[in-house]
Amino acid sequence: MNGEWTESVSNRTFIAINSGTREEIAHVPMGDKNDVDRAVKAARTAFESEEWRAILPADRGRIMQRISRLLLEQKEELAMLETCDTGKPLAQSIADVEVSARYFEYYAGVADKILGETIPIRSDILDFTLREPLGVTAHIVPWNYPLQIAARSLSAAFATGNTSVIKLAEDTPLTALRLAAICEAAGIPKGGVNVVTGYGYEAGTALASHPDIDHITFTGSVATGSEVMKAAAVNVKPVTLELGGKSPNIVFADANLEDAAYWVVRAITQNAGQTCSAGSRLLVERSIHASFVEIVKEKMSRLRVGPGADNSDIGPVISEKQLQRIEDYMNIANQEGATIALGGKSCPEAGSGFFFEPTIIDGISKESRIANEEIFGPVLAVIPFDSVQEALSIANGTEFGLVTGIWTSDINKAHWLAGTVRSGQVFINNYGAGGGVEMTFGGSRKSGFGREKGLEALKFYTQVKNVAIKFTV
Ligand code: NAD
Repeated sequence: MNGEWTESVSNRTFIAINSGTREEIAHVPMGDKNDVDRAVKAARTAFESEEWRAILPADRGRIMQRISRLLLEQKEELAMLETCDTGKPLAQSIADVEVSARYFEYYAGVADKILGETIPIRSDILDFTLREPLGVTAHIVPWNYPLQIAARSLSAAFATGNTSVIKLAEDTPLTALRLAAICEAAGIPKGGVNVVTGYGYEAGTALASHPDIDHITFTGSVATGSEVMKAAAVNVKPVTLELGGKSPNIVFADANLEDAAYWVVRAITQNAGQTCSAGSRLLVERSIHASFVEIVKEKMSRLRVGPGADNSDIGPVISEKQLQRIEDYMNIANQEGATIALGGKSCPEAGSGFFFEPTIIDGISKESRIANEEIFGPVLAVIPFDSVQEALSIANGTEFGLVTGIWTSDINKAHWLAGTVRSGQVFINNYGAGGGVEMTFGGSRKSGFGREKGLEALKFYTQVKNVAIKFTV
C-alpha cells in the first residue's frame, strides 16, 4: 500500500490455509474500511501526481515488459505458492503464472497505441478525441485463479494509465501480494498498485462503496456481483462484472467424438471445475447419448485426484464451504431423481484436503436445478437433445451466457448455432483455444457484462474526451 508493506490498521489478521492439506500457511493482515480508505487515497494521490502524469505511454509498456519477465523468472516459486494457497495442480499453477506474464506482455505492446480520433465537422474547427484513463480502478478478485485474474485486469488498467486498488479473496491472498512486489520492483511508482487483503463483507464492501474510485472490476458470484453493482450505483460508478456460468458443450453425432470427449472432460475438470467458463453441461445428440457418456466416463475415471503439489490431475476444491456446497448439490441431484453415472461424493482417500470425485450426472431434465445452477466443482450435467433447434433452446435455457462449445463436422449447424446462441464466447471443435489472452471475454445475461482480455478490455478502463478547437486566420 502506497509502496509500503504494512499491517492492517486494526492489526487484526486471518489465517490462510493450504486447501490440499488444511495446514495453516500464513497470517494475513485483515483489512477493513480504514485500510481500503488508505489504499484509495494512495491510488488517488498517485494518479494526480506529476510523477504519474510524466510516465510516457512507451515507459508504461517497458514497465509492463519488466513485470512480465519478473513473473517468468519467479515462475517456479510463484506456482508453488499458488498451489499451496489454492490447492490446484502444479502444472495448472505454472500455466497460471505464464498466462499472467502474457497479460503484461500483451498489454505492454498496446500502452503506446491507445489512440483518439479526428472528427470532421467544419473547416474552421478541429475536433478530436482523447482516450483517457478513468483514474482509480478497483479490482475485486476471486479465489479460483487469484494471480491470473488479478493480472488480467491490473495489466489492462495500468496499460491505459490508471492506478489500482486490488482486494484479494480471503481464501487466496498470497500470490497477488507477490505480484504487487513485482510491480514495485519493475518500476510502478508508489501508490500505483495497492493491495488490500481481507474479507468480502468488510474490505470488499468498503471498496465497492468507496466514493473515490472510478471503476470496479468484479469477478465472482452472481449474488455478490449484484451487491457490488448496487454499491457502485449509489456513487454512480461503472462496473465490469464477470459472474460465471453454466456453459454447454454441444456434441453432435457427426463430431470427432474422441476429440470432443477429451475437451468435455478437460472443460469440467480443470481447476476442479472451479472455473467461471467451466463446461459444466454436456448437451449430447440422443443417438450417441449412451455411447458418448461412456467415452467421457472412461476418460474421467482415469483422472488422479490428489494434492496439487503432487501434480495430480484434479486438486481439491478451495474450502470446506465449497466442498459442502457440492455435496448439497449431490443431495439435490438425488431428490431430482438423477443418475450419478460417475463419482458423486467427496474423496477423503485423496488426502486431507477438500477433495471431490470427478462426477457425471445423467438422467436429469433440462428444468432441474442440476442442469441450471452453477455448482463450481468437477460435476458434469448431461442432457440429451434431438435436433439442432432443441440444442439451441437448451443451451439458451439457463440464466447464464458465458461460453459455448460446439462439436460437429457440419459447418451449417456450427454457424447457425454460433450465431444464435446467447454466449460471450463460442468455440467450434475446440474449447478455450489455449486460454486466449488475446480473445475478448465476458458474459451476457447473469454471466455479467463488460469485456476483459484482448483489445476490447481497454475500452472499459478509458473514457473519451472530445476537444473542439475553433481557429481563425
Ligand atoms: P464471492 O463472489 O462472494 O467472492 C468473490 C470476491 O468478492 C472475493 O474477493 C470476496 O472477498 C469478495 N466479496 C464478497 N462479498 C463481497 C461484497 N459484499 N462486496 C464486495 N466484495 C465482496 O464468491 P464466494 O462466496 O467465495 O463463492 C461462491 C460462488 O461464487 C462459487 O460457488 C461460484 O459459483 C461463484 N464464483 C465464481 C467465480 C468466477 O470466476 N465467476 C469465482 C469465484 C466464485
